[in-house]
Formats: sequence, structure tokens, C-alpha cells
Amino acid sequence: MEKRASAQRIDRVARETLQLDFSMVAPPRLEFQSGQFITVRAGEGPNANRAYSIASTADRSDGFELVVKLLDGGAASSLLGGLRPGDTLDFTGPRGFFTLLAEHPGDVVFAVTGVGLAAAFPLLVETLRRGQEHGRVLFFWGLRTEADLFWTGRLAELATHARLEQHVCLSQPDAGWPGVQGRITEPILAALPGLVAPTFYAVGNGSMTQALTTALVARGVDRRKQIRTEQFYPVEEP
Ligand SMILES: Cc1cc2nc3c(=O)[nH]c(=O)nc-3n(C[C@H](O)[C@H](O)[C@H](O)COP(=O)(O)OP(=O)(O)OC[C@H]3O[C@@H](n4cnc5c(N)ncnc54)[C@H](O)[C@@H]3O)c2cc1C
Repeated sequence: MEKRASAQRIDRVARETLQLDFSMVAPPRLEFQSGQFITVRAGEGPNANRAYSIASTADRSDGFELVVKLLDGGAASSLLGGLRPGDTLDFTGPRGFFTLLAEHPGDVVFAVTGVGLAAAFPLLVETLRRGQEHGRVLFFWGLRTEADLFWTGRLAELATHARLEQHVCLSQPDAGWPGVQGRITEPILAALPGLVAPTFYAVGNGSMTQALTTALVARGVDRRKQIRTEQFYPVEEP
């Protein structure tokens, strides 16, 4: 059934990247699990559906946030990029299985590229809230340049959690970037031998989720039990 939400706030949070805050209109509440997505129709025809991950945690039901990377000439990018506060958005959902395991047996690894953070952030927050779990939580976020970074403040707030280790990796950093240079797959594979019963959540561009999954499985990780993936783009992050 089609649902409707109203845009409350729209902020540009990084290069070509918008954070949109919606409040529900009909129905008045949206029940979802962290990590799920909604679907919007950008035009007519069978190929007009576009998925957007709900970027807020599931304890909020009066509305939700999206983070959208605007693609030049993209149908949904034009629709969402043209929204102004007060405008409404029709959508279906929530849907999706990129959700947290009921319980993590050991360490948890988030492998994220670009706006994949929209889906990963709520899962990261919920994992850290689990008082009964004590494993390490490793967060790897890969982007192209510093201009693509967003929510660094939100991530910095999580840094007080003793279980969390954050690694931001830029593939094309400006001179002077103090963090890791390169892609995320290599440091994740380097960490693998030291991990205890890890669960992996990989989200973002398909080349990363597929390459990481293949490499983990080749090293003995169980695809079905230990790896959850969500592919935003079939190839490289635009
Ligand atoms: C489960 C799921 C969740 C998603 N969640 C989000 C989210 O939270 N935020 C978000 O921003 N996106 C998300 N996406 C991607 C989103 O659904 C759209 O595919 C994306 O926003 C582009 O849609 P568009 O209509 O603007 O562009 P389109 O009209 O589909 O494409 C516009 C142009 O860009 C080109 N293009 C498309 N992909 C690429 C690429 N990878 N590299 C270079 N050029 C390309 C196309 O060829 C075309 O010329 C998600 C996708 C899935 C499957």
C-alpha cells in the first residue's frame, strides 16, 4: 500500500549528498526494522522504482531520515533533489533483509562505502546499544575524498563506546589526510585472523560487497550465517 510522508528538513551534508528528514502523513506511524528501505517511484514504467535505506533507527516511528547521493540526470535524484520542506513523498515499504541478527555470537564488522552509511549507521547504533554483547565492533567506511564524508559528528559521538573501532578510508584523499588511504577490503581482510566468530554487514557499491564476500568465503567465512549484504549500486560508487 502506498504511504505518504512530508519533508521537514533538507540539508546538504556532503558533495552531491542530501539528508532528508520526513514526518509521516499517512499512516501516521511507520514501523520498520533498522536497515530496511523504502521504495519511491521516479516516473512511469517497470524500471521507475528506486530503493532508499531508512537512515534512522527503528525506535523512531513518526518519521524517518534518508541520505541520498544525487546522480547527474538520475530520475529519482531529480525527484528527491527537487523536494522542498512541506513537499510530500509517496512510497511503499519498508522492505528488506539487511537487518541485525537477533544476537551476534562474537565480533561484528561493518564494511561500508559512501552513502551505504545510511543503512549501516542504524545497525551500528543498535549493535552498540546491546548490553549483553561484548565482542569488538569494527567499522570500516570507504569513500573517495574528504568532500564525500558526512555524519562525522554522529560517528565521533559513538567513539566513546569501548567496543567500537572506526576506520575511515579514502581512495583519493587530498594531501595531508591523516587517515587510511585506500579501499576497505584490504584492512578488513588483514583484521580477519584476529576476529572471534565475526558477523559481517557489507553495504554500498556492488563491487565492494561482492569482492569482500568472495574474499571472506575463500578464507572460510560462512556466507549464509556470517555475511549480510546490501548492494546500492551494481558497480563502482558513482
Ligand atoms: C536496497 C537499496 C538501497 C539503496 N539505498 C540508497 C540510499 O540510502 N541512498 C542513495 O543515495 N541511494 C540508495 N540506493 C540507490 C538508489 O536506489 C538509486 O539507484 C540511486 O539513487 C540512483 O537513482 P537515480 O534514479 O537518481 O539514477 P538513475 O536514473 O538510475 O541513473 C542516473 C544516471 O547515473 C548513471 N549511474 C547509475 N549508477 C551509476 C554508477 N554506479 N556509477 C556511475 N553512473 C551511474 C546511470 O547510468 C544514469 O545515466 C539504494 C539501492 C538499493 C538497491
